[in-house]
Amino acid sequence: MAFFCHNEDRFMKKTEVAIIGGGPGGAASAIHLAKRGIKSIIIEKETFPRFHIGESMTGECGQAVRDLGLEAEMAGIPKTTKHGVTVYGQGGKGTFWLPVMKRDENNQLVKNPTWQVKRSDFDRIVLDKALEVGAELVRGKVTKALQKEDGTVYGVEVKLDNGDTETIESDVVIDASGMTTFLATAGVAGKRERGKYDRQVAIYSHVKGAKRDEQDNTLIFYEQKNHWAWFIPIDEDTVSIGVVTPSDYYRNSDEDMRDFYLREMHKINPALSDRVPDVKLVEEVRATSNYSYQVRDFTGKGFICIGDAHRFIDPIFSFGLHFALKEASLAADAIAGYLHDGVGRDQENPFAEHEAYCELGMDTIQEVLDCFWSSPISFAFFAHTRYNEDFIDIFAGRIYQTEPSPGLQAVRKVNAKMARLAAEQPELFEHVPVE
Ligand SMILES: Cc1cc2nc3c(=O)[nH]c(=O)nc-3n(C[C@H](O)[C@H](O)[C@H](O)COP(=O)(O)OP(=O)(O)OC[C@H]3O[C@@H](n4cnc5c(N)ncnc54)[C@H](O)[C@@H]3O)c2cc1C
Repeated sequence: MAFFCHNEDRFMKKTEVAIIGGGPGGAASAIHLAKRGIKSIIIEKETFPRFHIGESMTGECGQAVRDLGLEAEMAGIPKTTKHGVTVYGQGGKGTFWLPVMKRDENNQLVKNPTWQVKRSDFDRIVLDKALEVGAELVRGKVTKALQKEDGTVYGVEVKLDNGDTETIESDVVIDASGMTTFLATAGVAGKRERGKYDRQVAIYSHVKGAKRDEQDNTLIFYEQKNHWAWFIPIDEDTVSIGVVTPSDYYRNSDEDMRDFYLREMHKINPALSDRVPDVKLVEEVRATSNYSYQVRDFTGKGFICIGDAHRFIDPIFSFGLHFALKEASLAADAIAGYLHDGVGRDQENPFAEHEAYCELGMDTIQEVLDCFWSSPISFAFFAHTRYNEDFIDIFAGRIYQTEPSPGLQAVRKVNAKMARLAAEQPELFEHVPVE
């Protein structure tokens, strides 16, 4: 049970799980913990609703939303139904489409549409649900992780919105702080290392007046390596459009961010410029840069990092929410085993097995992205033709494959070949500046 005491000018609470961040990862963790009879306190520094990028869900992510019991709430917010992803190759050619499908009880692929959402609405309904099922919300910013001499994390210190400091002691801390990677930055989890798709900038906004396709698919427009755009319809007349370019390319343009955004939207790919002859921006133009990173050792005595709090690879195939929600459910299982049955208590890291399983899924997406960026033509052939069903599985989020599918094996072969070539002829792989 949470309790509360006032000690001089400090406040103290106790709970079973303290959760840093009330975004989808943190709020979903609280819902899954509540289902397992575990109390939690969420600490969130922002007031919801707040803007967040990341609007397109995978098929399995849509299922995770249903598993959270959010179908009624989803019916009440503006959104679009996503039937698939269309990837336009350079110059609008070499297009392929992958439908959103699930596996039925006979392991057959069947249609299973998912959603595209405005994150301010979506994140609010997930957090509200967490509070409805019993989680407590503390408004403030986590400033410190509490650690015993042996490194065990036993809670957090919070700077409350009213300026007071509060200590929250817990059996386990979940870090769901997103890209701020709180526990890594605090030196509790491993060091934050640069990812392979670092040194890029994503510039985005919401627009009205864009020409959508009939099915409201998520559209991806390829220009060249690390230079692309997304088009995600998020309600009946609003579309999220983002342009992604190497950071140097943006810096060298010497342009105002808004002008750069509007110009690139018309330059990246003709299939995109056809859709945006005359659009009106209905959100501020924002940017996220250097978003590719990895934190190893993201679990340990008394803590688990989930979603963006330990790794973000590349946004192109929309896996961020998927990882946040999936890992929330997996973390709740691991914590329930630990608290109720003592699973892992005699180990150096009680959550090592959980960590390895999460990495399996993230590594799969890393491999798929490496193949896409290094060999887009082979990738399109695999996805569209040779291993179409395996790629439908991967794009839907069935990525925790202990026995890799033939499609995933083909991806690995291509990556191994590219790695060999890079070792033998490094000059071919040197960075070529974008004109
Ligand atoms: C350019 C770009 C495009 C993307 N597109 C997609 C997409 O189409 N589909 C998709 O699924 N994903 C996408 N993503 C990724 C997606 O946005 C994230 O993966 C997702 O939001 C992760 O959820 P989370 O709960 O882990 O973190 P967040 O949603 O970031 O939530 C973290 C919360 O923690 C709070 N917080 C942080 N630090 C503290 C602290 N010290 N104290 C208290 N509170 C704190 C923050 O205020 C925030 O509310 C995209 C990402 C980028 C960069």
